[in-house]
Amino acid sequence: MNVAPPRRKPRVAVLGATGAVGQAFVRLLVNHPWFELVEVAASERSAGKSYGEAARWIGDEALPASVGAMQVLPCDPGAVTAEIVFSALDSSVAGEAEEAFARAGRFVLSNAKNHRMDSDVPLVIAEVNPDHLDILAAQRKLRGWNGAIVTNGNCASIVAALALAPIQQRFGITQIIATTMQAVSGAGYPGVPSLDILGNVVPYIADEERKVEEELQKFLGTAANDHIDPASFVTSAHCNRVAVEHGHTVTLSVKLPKPAPVEAVREAFATWTGAEDARGLPSAPERPVILMEQPDRPQPRRDVDAGRGMSVSVGRLRADPVLDVKLVAMGHNIVRGAAGASVLNAELLVHRGLVGAA
Ligand code: NAP
Repeated sequence: MNVAPPRRKPRVAVLGATGAVGQAFVRLLVNHPWFELVEVAASERSAGKSYGEAARWIGDEALPASVGAMQVLPCDPGAVTAEIVFSALDSSVAGEAEEAFARAGRFVLSNAKNHRMDSDVPLVIAEVNPDHLDILAAQRKLRGWNGAIVTNGNCASIVAALALAPIQQRFGITQIIATTMQAVSGAGYPGVPSLDILGNVVPYIADEERKVEEELQKFLGTAANDHIDPASFVTSAHCNRVAVEHGHTVTLSVKLPKPAPVEAVREAFATWTGAEDARGLPSAPERPVILMEQPDRPQPRRDVDAGRGMSVSVGRLRADPVLDVKLVAMGHNIVRGAAGASVLNAELLVHRGLVGAA
């Protein structure tokens, strides 16, 4: 079932449009049925050039000519006029730039880490916690903004949160061990040097384990009036970089408040379709979480594009002799874990009448 489109197409812009996530935004927005991509912005190094000149295009499909000809703008609300702003900015600049846009009355959908854990900023996965958008009213009042900031999680946290949501919502969770195998595209462009990663595993990604541990609690927490009460489970994360192009894999061992048979957990996955609010939105996949029964799946090379890159594939669901159940989850870090998730969140904002209604 498709949701009715807005009466008019809101004008949207991409900040950090030349990077790995920014380019994914361009691909997803150029022919979007609800949004009109009108502006692209990046650093002073790129501003003033055409987008085709400034971006080293890494998409599989050709760069759309209409975007290639756009002039790259500086990331300044005086230069960028769109009402919805997708931020794929480097975290060294995202914090202040995103606040400046929200202060100037724009809706900012951020992929950067800077504001994710602010108490008045929702960290949203449309199918998991759309009600967390309810704290936006408090954010705008507290900060005196006409605009707002809504954040995406870290790419590994989003994949893990989608795989954990069917379990948390049916049984609750008390403990999680999460081990990630993260693709090189998660480090942006040009990212990890080839001589560090080819034929190798790097068992360290700066600050990543803390982000996974904290963000899972916020995603699966509960909205209060002006903040999110974090879920009470505790997570131990191990984060590794592996020689995969796209697709983060996360193995998860999960302790439940009361042990449940694996078959009951399987049934929870098989029947989980995500929050009603997100269903039928243009970027929403038919199945946000796909349960695979083959013993050797999911695999990034084979499954990363499931649901146009928006589905998380889950497999190897089985009993865990230490905790209760264990499984493997995998999703596209740049689509589900970044740009696609932000576009879906923007569709949710429009659907709820929070932006683009006038
Ligand atoms: P990236 O490829 O390094 O791109 C960074 C972008 O930020 C570029 O467009 C760059 O513009 C711009 N930028 C850098 N310094 C700037 C400045 N001083 N002023 C304005 N713009 C500036 O990084 P990415 O992987 O796309 O990641 C973008 C953001 O998303 C980061 O915060 C990252 O942590 C987050 N994220 C990434 C992923 C992923 O899988 N890659 C997933 C989730 C979240 P120039 O080209 O002009 O330098």
